[in-house]
Amino acid sequence: MFMKVYKQDEYLMLSGIQHFAFCKRQWALIHIENLWQDNYHTAIGNVFHEKVHDAASAEKRGNVIISRAMPVHSSTLGISGECDVVEFHLDKNGVKIKGREGTYIPYPIEYKKGAPKKTDIDILQLVAQAMCLEEMFCCDVNRGYLFYGQTRHREKIEVTQKLKDKVTDIIQQMHMLFKRGHTPKVKPSKSCSLCSLNDLCLPVLCKNKSAREYIEKMINEG
Ligand code: SF4
Repeated sequence: MFMKVYKQDEYLMLSGIQHFAFCKRQWALIHIENLWQDNYHTAIGNVFHEKVHDAASAEKRGNVIISRAMPVHSSTLGISGECDVVEFHLDKNGVKIKGREGTYIPYPIEYKKGAPKKTDIDILQLVAQAMCLEEMFCCDVNRGYLFYGQTRHREKIEVTQKLKDKVTDIIQQMHMLFKRGHTPKVKPSKSCSLCSLNDLCLPVLCKNKSAREYIEKMINEG
């Protein structure tokens, strides 16, 4: 079967998967219209992530090599991003790592400030990271971990084929919308009250327009 290979300038941001799974319009406002607005939740999230990324870039603890803020990509998915942490576990079925004895399997760990969510948006982001690691290291990555700041607990996530198919489908939809430069119309939902773009999206006033058009109109009229 023919498999598309994306060029680097076509890559989309891996972290956009959670925006897209949360609300397609939110993703398009951020990634197509380049609008972004911090709210309390994103500001706390940024501080939390900075703490993770401030730590030493790599260390070895027993049979585990820990790499922080590791860039990842996939040319078959057409995405790139960064893993908060990748743990390389010594494993006879793993792959060689430059400058290290033995063979290892990489497992992604994503840090979240809050508590586990009712939706699977964090899981999808983690699975996309695992898929990038599989492609980069030519090995199976069958699990990853989500660490939640509120519960101080690390959850093990199985990387199943079903989750991989869902990630692939979401990323294909993202590429299609990005290519068309299309921002989906407002569909008010329960998510809107938690949305960092609520003010820019204007879910009530702006039912059929792009947020940029609306804002430009407001500025020109002002
Ligand atoms: S306010 Fe609602 S419709 Fe608008 S981007 Fe946010 S979640 Fe989507």
